[in-house]
Amino acid sequence: MAFRAYNKLLLSVFPSKWPRWTPRLGSLRSVPARMCNISGCSYKLRNVDLHPLWKGEIDVPGGSRQSPINIRIRDSVFHPQLAPVHTQYDPNTCLHIWNNGYSFFVEFDDSTDKSIVSGGPLENPFRLKQFHFHWGRNNDWGSEHTVDSRVFPAELHLVHWNCSKYRTFEEAIMEPNGLAVIGVFLKIGKQHEKLQKLVDILPSVRYKDALTEFNYFDASCLLPSCVDYWTYSGSLTTPPLTESVTWIIMKKPIEVDHSQLAVFRSLLFTAVGEEEKYMVDNFRPLQPIMNRTVHSSFEPALQISHKKKSEEHRQQAG
Ligand SMILES: [Zn+2]
Repeated sequence: MAFRAYNKLLLSVFPSKWPRWTPRLGSLRSVPARMCNISGCSYKLRNVDLHPLWKGEIDVPGGSRQSPINIRIRDSVFHPQLAPVHTQYDPNTCLHIWNNGYSFFVEFDDSTDKSIVSGGPLENPFRLKQFHFHWGRNNDWGSEHTVDSRVFPAELHLVHWNCSKYRTFEEAIMEPNGLAVIGVFLKIGKQHEKLQKLVDILPSVRYKDALTEFNYFDASCLLPSCVDYWTYSGSLTTPPLTESVTWIIMKKPIEVDHSQLAVFRSLLFTAVGEEEKYMVDNFRPLQPIMNRTVHSSFEPALQISHKKKSEEHRQQAG
């Protein structure tokens, strides 16, 4: 099955044992995360041993459009032609959920066009393959992208592939314009009722490699009602880190409550029989934006207030 091939891809950088990997909670709490944007910097500052995903030889390609990034609202460019992104997901395509040792993946049948995203910056429909989350050990960090350096406790990634250009997901992840990932920030607030169906099943995939059936889930319930987004060209945030992704980052976060994220944090990076390591802080550090522009589908509030002010001045002058 397709997910097994992707698993193999991830497993190619996962050693089976990592005896030296011991999180140092004290040092993690004593310094703030995300102190600078340089690749790898926050890991050094936090003095945390790396997850096996990030150990050993990782083939980072060139590195001119890596993800995640800090989105600076002031530097983003409003693009009036950017239409809302349209998702059309068939809940029947939802197959299962599995713990891949770094996050949990909810995977979809992508053999047809039943679950797709289109519009916005995309030239053609992209098929939904899977979604997963990144989160922190507490609510102070966890998201991969940040907005004006604001970090969220978690971030959802809905991963789609370009079925017009490529034959398979595995092919698309290695090629330009292969993927479209919708990113949604999670913040602490009221309980997310629809997410609870997923949260309830998480204990059954507590250990690495666990897989369980998970059917009839409409992933569009995890999108915010506000259609505003930023978009930029970037990469996967896990190996192979290929620069194949059109990112669509929703402006408004969705709300989840503390107990829902607590269940995320009760999952394990480790398999049955191994020393238990909690699945937390499974995000990549910020990457330099380099020569890229982040476009917004909406007019930034700053520009609107600036425009209002100049109109007021004009009226006063007149
Ligand atoms: Zn991700």
